[in-house]
Amino acid sequence: MPELPEVETIRRQLAPIAEGRAIEAAEVNDDRWVLPHTVDEFENLLAGRRILKLGRRGKYFVLALDGGSALVMHLRMTGNLLFLPDDAEPPSAHLRGQLWLSGDQGRAAGSLAFVDPRRFGTAEVIATQEALNEYLDARLGPEPFDASFDGPSLHQHTRGRKSPVKAVLLDQRVVAGVGNIYADEALYRAGIAPHKRAARLTRAQCELLAETIRDALAAGIDAKGASIDDFRDAYGVKGSFQDQFLVHRREGLDCPGCGAAVVKTRVAGRGTYFCRACQKN
Ligand SMILES: [Zn+2]
Repeated sequence: MPELPEVETIRRQLAPIAEGRAIEAAEVNDDRWVLPHTVDEFENLLAGRRILKLGRRGKYFVLALDGGSALVMHLRMTGNLLFLPDDAEPPSAHLRGQLWLSGDQGRAAGSLAFVDPRRFGTAEVIATQEALNEYLDARLGPEPFDASFDGPSLHQHTRGRKSPVKAVLLDQRVVAGVGNIYADEALYRAGIAPHKRAARLTRAQCELLAETIRDALAAGIDAKGASIDDFRDAYGVKGSFQDQFLVHRREGLDCPGCGAAVVKTRVAGRGTYFCRACQKN
């Protein structure tokens, strides 16, 4: 499942391709992709609109459009967003929809193509900036790289929480964009056991964890994301962060810190990897 670094990798590639261009037409191949819109409604809302900015909030792409509306897309389990030049071979299967972009000086005509084998990905048009803020604020807490996310804010979110710390990190309203990979990697870097009760974290641990969350996410962005299943970047190329995992998906392999075997367990319903010796706190 793509997390913040995977979505950010695609955003950085597509922003220079898409920003400033008009959507000539939107074409929906799968009506489930655009629910609660109808296909006609969705296509009409986007036709002729100009993409002012291709942004990101948590794991959402946010395309600001002229006229004040926004297109919000989420890749969910297996979605990918690609740029397909007009002369490129379109993917033969799992194409849920395309936004056709006109060519302009120096930029070839083509489409932003949403490909999604498991069909959980979504695309929704939000009418106004105010409605967009409401939509995102209802779902997402602070961005991990914003000043509003820090040790004290994380500490506050963990008070009274009986759930394991990993479950709290996966809660998008605590910090936006962290998923299963980066939660495991951040907890390892902080020396904190994933099943530790969140309410028992000290202030100092929350301070450290806020830092290691940013470190793990930044390393993921630098490696252009992790491709453990379907993730491909906007050009269809795999990321490389999976080659740098410290514990995630490394069951039975040596912990890079102490050499003990990495253990797999289940926390918050998710496959979870950690080192018993290095994550005692
Ligand atoms: Zn270890």
